[in-house]
Amino acid sequence: MPMFVDTSPPGQCIFCRLVAGEIPAARVFEDELTVAFMDIGQVNPGHVLVATKRHAATLFDITPQEAAAVAQTVQRVAFAVRDTFDPPGLTLLQANGREGDQTVFHFHMHVVPRHGDDGIALSWPRKDPPGDILQGYAARLRDAIAGG
Ligand SMILES: [Zn+2]
Repeated sequence: MPMFVDTSPPGQCIFCRLVAGEIPAARVFEDELTVAFMDIGQVNPGHVLVATKRHAATLFDITPQEAAAVAQTVQRVAFAVRDTFDPPGLTLLQANGREGDQTVFHFHMHVVPRHGDDGIALSWPRKDPPGDILQGYAARLRDAIAGG
């Protein structure tokens, strides 16, 4: 994961400054709610970030309309990445909180073209709990959704 961490306050964060045109960016697409631009790190050629135009730190801070707009821009960008760079795979990554590996605290999603030997690694330590535990988790989440 990248080591750069931007802790600037809202309105002064690096993506807010990018949205405002105060710092340069290689823009790919924008609409009313979102902006897409090249990640300066380019983990693989064609690596794009899709961010909300409004400052919101995490998934829990964006509106349902912004969430929908981000998803649509991500898909639009993904088609363009596929057509332009022709990667055999593509990964979406969206991080929330330091423990979730978020480094810029302005909501964004990575669109990452993937290749078999690209060195990107995600540890996935399966726990494989028994079925009754899964049912318990699901019941708690259904209750949370019904209550929300
Ligand atoms: Zn911001």
